[in-house]
Amino acid sequence: MSNTLIDTHAHIFSHEYENDLETVIKNSIASGVTKIIIPNINADSILPMIELCDAYPGICFPAIGIHPTDIESSPVEQIKCLEKELLKRKFIAIGETGIDLYWDKSNLSNQIVALSTHIKLASSFDLPLIIHSRNSFQETIDTIVTHKKSNTRGVFHCFSGTYKEACTIIESGFLLGIGGTVTFKNSTLPDILPLIDLKNIVLETDSPYLAPIPYRGKRNEPAYIKDIARKISDIYTISIDEVAKITTENANILFNF
Ligand SMILES: [Zn+2]
Repeated sequence: MSNTLIDTHAHIFSHEYENDLETVIKNSIASGVTKIIIPNINADSILPMIELCDAYPGICFPAIGIHPTDIESSPVEQIKCLEKELLKRKFIAIGETGIDLYWDKSNLSNQIVALSTHIKLASSFDLPLIIHSRNSFQETIDTIVTHKKSNTRGVFHCFSGTYKEACTIIESGFLLGIGGTVTFKNSTLPDILPLIDLKNIVLETDSPYLAPIPYRGKRNEPAYIKDIARKISDIYTISIDEVAKITTENANILFNF
């Protein structure tokens, strides 16, 4: 393969990599994944996330945000710490942020405030957003449409929705992040994706979660982007090299590496 790949979503600062992080990075590079975006989760993960990116400059790129399942009762206060970090160093994106109603519906109003605050932050620092939306498509897109500015852009990470939802996301100026679920037997993505231009798609692993087949159920890692790219090349009936070329170009434009 002559083209490189980008993993646009991997939490490899997680303790699951503490014993073999160097091997994980080496394996990524060996499989053609030369850039990895590292989205933050909560206030406690900021330091490990930044230490990781400092240890692998030009390979690991930090994104800053608070994950929707970590949003508490005073979201605006909680998100203030992000601004401080943004003034200190360069980040590639704001995220991850969004709305997650899978675990807890009672926190919706705080999650909406948190997402709208992240949207404002992304606009003022002119950065793309990394959006997490689970059991909350309408709530997420409504919040984005209500608060978006002229420079609002980003990716819906780990997309697994309907064709109609995909169109709404693209019309709103966002890309679709496609991960390991595309390889799962029950996935509807193989039917939907051929209707969507590949220029709207970036690849991601969401490591350590959602490892693609044949690693399903095991710890995920950025090297497995290759297995996701292979499945996408089957779906679009183009070469894996072409998938790498187009999705890497999409990621380069969105994240401005
Ligand atoms: Zn994530």
